[in-house]
Amino acid sequence: HQRDDCPLDKDELGRSTWKLLHTIAATYSDEPSREDQSNMEQFIRLIPKVYPCEICANDFSEILTYHPPNISSQKSFSKWMCEVHNMVNRKLEKPLFDCSKVNERWRDGWADGHCE
Ligand code: FAD
Repeated sequence: HQRDDCPLDKDELGRSTWKLLHTIAATYSDEPSREDQSNMEQFIRLIPKVYPCEICANDFSEILTYHPPNISSQKSFSKWMCEVHNMVNRKLEKPLFDCSKVNERWRDGWADGHCE
């Protein structure tokens, strides 16, 4: 990890962004209103327009065209976020994450209590 008083490199930016995105998904409503859904759809679709890594932004934009955001509930949105992160992991030849565990990782903490 780089020092935390320096500008972010691509990896540090990515880690910080995934933390934000998965945590937003973890705390999304179980029964989102139309407005909640519209806000989230817009938020996700703006990412490629503002994300400060051009190759990342272009690839994410392409991912969104063939895997559009599922913003219908916390469970489906978190699963979707996990799947798109795995698409990026695959491209970067990183290990894939088991999406059945996404709420343990980002919302509830693990069953053995080590996050408490
Ligand atoms: P990260 O991939 O940053 O993951 C952080 C933590 O999330 C992991 O430690 C793990 O606990 C958890 N995690 C991993 N996978 C999942 C998952 N599927 N679901 C839930 N949790 C998970 N980098 C490039 O070099 N090229 C790119 O084109 C590129 N595109 C990107 C596009 C976006 C939208 C974002 C946000 C980042 C992108 N990055 C890209 C950065 C890249 O994804 C990583 O963030 C960076 O390489 C650091 O990786 P890392 O191994 O530290 O873990």
